[in-house]
Amino acid sequence: MSKPSPDVYEQGRGMDAHNQAMREIRGRNDESYDPREPTRVWLDEDNTPDGVYDSLTIILNTGGCRWARAGGCTMCGYVAESVDGGTVAHEDLMHQIERCLEHEREHADDISDGEQAGQIKIYTSGSFLDEREVPAQTREAIASEFADRDRIVVESLPDFVDREKIEDFTDRGIETDIAVGLETATDQIRHDCVNKYFEFSEFERAAVEARAAGAGIKAYLLMKPPFLSESEAIEDMKRSIRRCADVEGCHTVSMNPTNVQQYTMVEQLYFDDGYRPPWLWSVAEVLDSTAKEDVIVVSDPVGHGSDRGPHNCGECDDRVQRAIKDFDLRQDPSVFEQVSCECERTWEEVCERERSYSMPLVR
Ligand code: SF4
Ligand SMILES: [Zn+2]
Repeated sequence: MSKPSPDVYEQGRGMDAHNQAMREIRGRNDESYDPREPTRVWLDEDNTPDGVYDSLTIILNTGGCRWARAGGCTMCGYVAESVDGGTVAHEDLMHQIERCLEHEREHADDISDGEQAGQIKIYTSGSFLDEREVPAQTREAIASEFADRDRIVVESLPDFVDREKIEDFTDRGIETDIAVGLETATDQIRHDCVNKYFEFSEFERAAVEARAAGAGIKAYLLMKPPFLSESEAIEDMKRSIRRCADVEGCHTVSMNPTNVQQYTMVEQLYFDDGYRPPWLWSVAEVLDSTAKEDVIVVSDPVGHGSDRGPHNCGECDDRVQRAIKDFDLRQDPSVFEQVSCECERTWEEVCERERSYSMPLVR
């Protein structure tokens, strides 16, 4: 049987129409980017199985995700930030890493030991373990560069997760996590709402590979993809977190509320009044109700409080966001008892009454 891959899955799986629409929407973007500069780099803090770490978070510009070039996921605007033409040379990727280290040195005051972050997180707007994005030579050079750090997280689609690649890091004694954009544990929602091609069983296989190399798994979930009502999105996240907690080796779930990114299908729906990002109350509800699961659950609502990001009424957004960030570090659901607002009533009504976009077609 052929191995699942973006190329195999593009055709004939009911995704052709999604992909065609996505290519057309993305084609409206005509900006280009410098292959010697990282897409973004910043310092922050993360809760890990070994406690809270300072993290240097790097978004490498690798030419972008193969799947995104076929059309890609309905909410993903990252490909719009990638280099045109597909590949970035080893020297350019290493130059990007050097720029990230410069950023770390310039902001060393923000790090608790005043020197360097204990954890490195590398995202690529695609798959770090896809050798068309990051060649083996570059992967090894990056592993060697960061061999003195305690922890590293690299992002990959599950099909590219092989134990040999991960051993570049684990053999150097770095605690390694593979971050997989699972989005949801429900295959139908992943296919039809997110337009992502793989199955939950692929995620389970990736977890087995990671474990074999001595690494862990972080699942990235998407709170409220398009075409789901608020209550369906909440239920999908609760179910997904519980299924992830049951996968051996999956120690952390990062739940990302959808934000409206440029040149995406979600943005098109948003312009047509067909999409609203999730309420922050929904994020709090999911975190509260899954707090007892045997997995760390964190959420970093990007663009919170704005129309394009997860938001409540405008009055309470900062307070609820602070409670969520507090929960991320302490995993204590009592933080949510300390925030309230009149708009909770509206949110409850939305959860009660909202029905999926354009459904039912016939009563
Ligand atoms: S979400 Fe990930 S897999 Fe989907 S298009 Fe974006 S980078 Fe590619
Ligand atoms: Zn409010």
